[in-house]
Amino acid sequence: MSRRITPERSSLQIHKLRKQIDYLSNFRSFNRATCLVTMYIPPGASLNEIRNTLREEYGTATNIKDKPTGKAVQDALSRVIAALTGPEAKGNGISIFCGKVQTNKIELFAIEPPEPIAIKLYVCDDHFHLDHLQEMLIEKDSYGIVVIDRSGADFAQLRGSHVKMISHHDSYVPSKHGRGGQSQARIERGIEILADEFFTKMAINTNELFLEKYPVTGIIIGGAAFAQERFAENKALNYQIREKIIGTFNLGYTGHQGIRELLEKSAETLSEVRLIQEKKLVDKFLEHLGKDTGLITYGITELQEALAAGAVETVLLSSEVDRIEVELKCQTCDFTESRISPDKNTFEFEEEVEGSDCPKCPNGRLTITNRTSFIDILSEKALLTGATIEVISTEHESGRMLFDAFSGLAGLLRYAWTSSY
Ligand SMILES: [Zn+2]
Repeated sequence: MSRRITPERSSLQIHKLRKQIDYLSNFRSFNRATCLVTMYIPPGASLNEIRNTLREEYGTATNIKDKPTGKAVQDALSRVIAALTGPEAKGNGISIFCGKVQTNKIELFAIEPPEPIAIKLYVCDDHFHLDHLQEMLIEKDSYGIVVIDRSGADFAQLRGSHVKMISHHDSYVPSKHGRGGQSQARIERGIEILADEFFTKMAINTNELFLEKYPVTGIIIGGAAFAQERFAENKALNYQIREKIIGTFNLGYTGHQGIRELLEKSAETLSEVRLIQEKKLVDKFLEHLGKDTGLITYGITELQEALAAGAVETVLLSSEVDRIEVELKCQTCDFTESRISPDKNTFEFEEEVEGSDCPKCPNGRLTITNRTSFIDILSEKALLTGATIEVISTEHESGRMLFDAFSGLAGLLRYAWTSSY
């Protein structure tokens, strides 16, 4: 059986994209003229056709009056054409940013974003066009919504600010207000059994909906007269569903009106979901640290070693860790060196080292031949060993501490492991 489940985008993917956008927004064309190329190519698009179009653009660029600008456009186009290999755009498609920038070098960046590119765009400007990538940063987590009481249940899904109604179910459980009489107690017991059966049926429905059909990050449940709590405790609810329940709320309404009321009441809870997850992760780290279980590690060197050894289950990466490693080469002699930037302002760091003096020969100047972001180095290692990376924001106290006291890098381990250092 094969089922396609839309993967939820990880905190790492979003973090990485945000950093890339920040970085690319620094670039301007070398002469302030329109010679920086931005391209968005959706998945499945024919690269043959696109290469042909770019060759035509190359020809048209000979008409540009300012010769240095025309040459820069043509150089950028040649680089893009060479970078677009294969018959069609794979995966989520590709976005390309290329041109002669303020350092007078021709830079080329190709980014496969975390979700499919939905537009086809070629534009030449004095800066890169990043709007389409920017849109992907908008919250995409979705939440399952259940409003239930003895009379019926409603299911919906919340994504961003959009609510999709999924289904409504009537219970046909009679009301408890009987007319009295001898058989009243027996009737009430019967009604209770019917109500239980309805809740169980709805629990099974919840499992099917929110684990399979509409996989969600979290679930909120609302109801009247404690029905929501009774439902949340129903034994037929899958344990994975139980773990996703982020709140139960008492409501005055049922049906669609109940869903609206539930959204209002849970707004604060929802905005804190990621925050709570992050705090839990840091707490877990601190608990192991306090108890000295040996099941954690921290620091750049230690973490990388533990990752390489396959000992890391989860990497906690502070959102402020923003290092890059650059390969430098002298333009005159054979001197090469790799350097790691300090946190923040990797763009400034690059500007600083590009063209700096060679320590080996008298007139040599260093140039950057390769750059790798620390996030990429980490993700590659994590991917090889099945570790997950969780990006922890520094906007809350726990996250702030992770950055200040543990250099923003920690690992929850699969087994006790000690560094060889
Ligand atoms: Zn040199």
